[in-house]
Amino acid sequence: MSTPSPYDNLPDAQGFFGKFGGQFVPPEMKQVMDEISAAYQEIRQRKDFQDELNYLLADYVGRPSPIFYARRLSEKLGGARIYLKREDLNHTGAHKINHCLGEALLAKFMGKTKVIAETGAGQHGVALATACALVGIPCEIHMGTVDIAKEHPNVTKMKILGATLVPVTRGTATLKDAVDSAFDEYLKDPQNFIYAIGSVVGPHPFPGMVRDFQSVVGREARAQFMERYKKLPDYVAACVGGGSNAMGIFTAFLNDESVKLVGVEPAGEGLDTDRHAATMTLGKPGQIHGMACYVLEDSEGNPMPVHSIASGLDYPGSGPQHSHLKDLGRVEYASANDNECLDAFMMLSRVEGIIPALESAHAVAWAIREAPKLSQEQSILINLSGRGDKDADYVAEKLGL
Ligand SMILES: *Cc1c(COP(=O)(O)O)cnc(C)c1O
Repeated sequence: MSTPSPYDNLPDAQGFFGKFGGQFVPPEMKQVMDEISAAYQEIRQRKDFQDELNYLLADYVGRPSPIFYARRLSEKLGGARIYLKREDLNHTGAHKINHCLGEALLAKFMGKTKVIAETGAGQHGVALATACALVGIPCEIHMGTVDIAKEHPNVTKMKILGATLVPVTRGTATLKDAVDSAFDEYLKDPQNFIYAIGSVVGPHPFPGMVRDFQSVVGREARAQFMERYKKLPDYVAACVGGGSNAMGIFTAFLNDESVKLVGVEPAGEGLDTDRHAATMTLGKPGQIHGMACYVLEDSEGNPMPVHSIASGLDYPGSGPQHSHLKDLGRVEYASANDNECLDAFMMLSRVEGIIPALESAHAVAWAIREAPKLSQEQSILINLSGRGDKDADYVAEKLGL
C-alpha cells in the first residue's frame, strides 16, 4: 500500500494547507467566497470550460512556452546547467495571463458585472485587462501611485485595453495598499463584482484556484524536460512575491523527491535592514488579506511596509501553500537583494539576449550564486516568469546607461 502524498489534495474543504490558508473574512464575505468556490468546483470539472481554457492558452497565450538551455550563461558560471522556462514569451509578457484567463472565464460563468483587482508591477493589471477585453467584462484596476510612476508603460496599456484605473495614495502607495483599496471597492457589491486576486493569496478558494490555473507551467516544464533530457532537473527555482509563478512550476515536481525546489524572495536593501520583502525568510505565522500565512509584521502586529526593486514582489504576506511547504521542509526559501537582481538582469540580457522582469531576475540571481557550486552534470530550471520591457527604462536610468 502506498502512503498518500502529503502534497496532494490540498487545500482541504475549509481551504487549509496545514495550518495556513482558510477564510479569515466577515460572514457575508465568507458566503461570497463559498459561492466562488462552488462555481469554480463546478466549472473545473466541465469539459466545455477546460476546452475553452486550453484553446485560449494555446492559440491566445502561445503555450506551451519553451524551455531554453542558457548555454552561454551556464558556461560563464562554470557549474550547473541553467535552463529557463520562458513564461516571458507569453502574450502580455508574463505568467499572469494563465490565471487571469481562468478568472475572467469564471467571472463570465458566474454572471458578474465587474472584475476588480489590484496590481503591483502592473503585470496583473495588464493581464487581467487583457483577459477582460477578450471575454467582454468591465475591469477596474487599483494601483499605488508609486508603482504608477514606476511602471508607466503598463499603465498606458491598461487604459488602451479599456480598464478603469484607480490610483491609490494611502500607506506606502504600493501593492499592499492597492489590495486594501480594491478590497474596499469589492465590499460595496460582492454579489455583482468579483475580485480577481493576482496571486496564490487571499481567502479560499483563491490560493488553490490560482495555483491550479498556473500549474500548467510545471506540467509542461516537467514533460518538456523529461522528453528532451530523459531525466528531471536537480533544482527548480522561482521568485516568490505572492507565490503564483513559483507554485505554478513547483506543483508538478512536489512528489519528485530528487528535485530540490527553491523559492527566491526579495532581500531588497538587505535582510538586516527594514527595506526588504523576505516574508518566508524573516516573517512569522500571522494573518493578512483573509488568510493565515507567514507575514512580515511590525512590533504592533501590523503588516510591515516592505520594499523590493521589483514592484511585483513587495508584498508582506505569502501564499499559504508556500507557508505550509516551508514548514514541511519541501521548499527552501532563499533570497536575492536589489543589487544582485540588477546584476542578474544585466547578465542575462548581455549573455543570452533575454531581458528578464526584475521579479524573475531574483531567481536568476540565485542561480548565478549557486550554479558555480554545483557540477556540470547538475541542472537548474528557472521559471523565467516575465520579460523586462516594463523595467528597461528604470534600470537604464538607475545604472546610468
Ligand atoms: C507579478 C509577478 C511576479 C510575482 O508574483 P508571484 O505571484 O509571486 O508569481 C513575478 N514575476 C513577474 C514577471 C510578475 O509579473
